[in-house]
Amino acid sequence: MEIIHTIEVRALVELQKTDAVMDAKRAIAAGVPVKIAALNAAFEKKKNSMSAAREALLALQVKKKDCELRIAEADEGIRKHQRELNLVKDNNAFKALLSEIENDKKNKDELETGVLCLLEEIDKASVQDKAIREEVKKLEETMRAEIAALEATAAEIAAGLEAAKTKRAAAAAALNPELLEKYEDIRANKNGLAVAAVHEDPSNGKFSCGGCHMSLTPQKTLDVKKIDAFAICPDCRRLLYLERTVYPELAQSAAPAEPPR
Ligand SMILES: [Zn+2]
Repeated sequence: MEIIHTIEVRALVELQKTDAVMDAKRAIAAGVPVKIAALNAAFEKKKNSMSAAREALLALQVKKKDCELRIAEADEGIRKHQRELNLVKDNNAFKALLSEIENDKKNKDELETGVLCLLEEIDKASVQDKAIREEVKKLEETMRAEIAALEATAAEIAAGLEAAKTKRAAAAAALNPELLEKYEDIRANKNGLAVAAVHEDPSNGKFSCGGCHMSLTPQKTLDVKKIDAFAICPDCRRLLYLERTVYPELAQSAAPAEPPR
């Protein structure tokens, strides 16, 4: 059967339009959890970089503390050896102690230089730590606002769909069951689009299927112009209609064709 005669063309076209709107809304609602998960993941990543910055700062502070302890030890060594200097009589032992003290002082100098470098690094690390903390705080605020907006959208869509479902069910119930079954079958296999408006090329007046975009034969072009009938696309088997035939009242105002999908 390459043409279906029915007085319910307009009603089925309306049902397809309702379903298309509902499908689009469902797709948006389905995308909400995905978007929220992505926002959370991005935030977790930022939080990890915040922890890394904090750890780097703490490690530098530990290093500085260690240097300071070693400086205190060197000081202690210097004092001890100076006390011993007063006690030794032997010249060689005296020289050895002097050399020890010299060593301790050199060691202490190096450690003190190290502490100065560490202080600079700690300053930089603190600045970075603070910057990342602020970034994380801002990001958290933005994220919370975005998630709240997404959740509000999802709730709004859910409420809208709930209301639309009742209307849709009534419209479907009013149709011929055989026609409805055919419609649902094609819809299930053709990505939700069972009834497609024919596209008319304004440059040459040629018709193509609004679902699969294949050009229509002259016979199909004639079929699709018939009142109270659906032509069937030979390529995708969708039910085809012409907007200006189904909606003659819109023909004068040059209604734009259904966007292809
Ligand atoms: Zn087609």
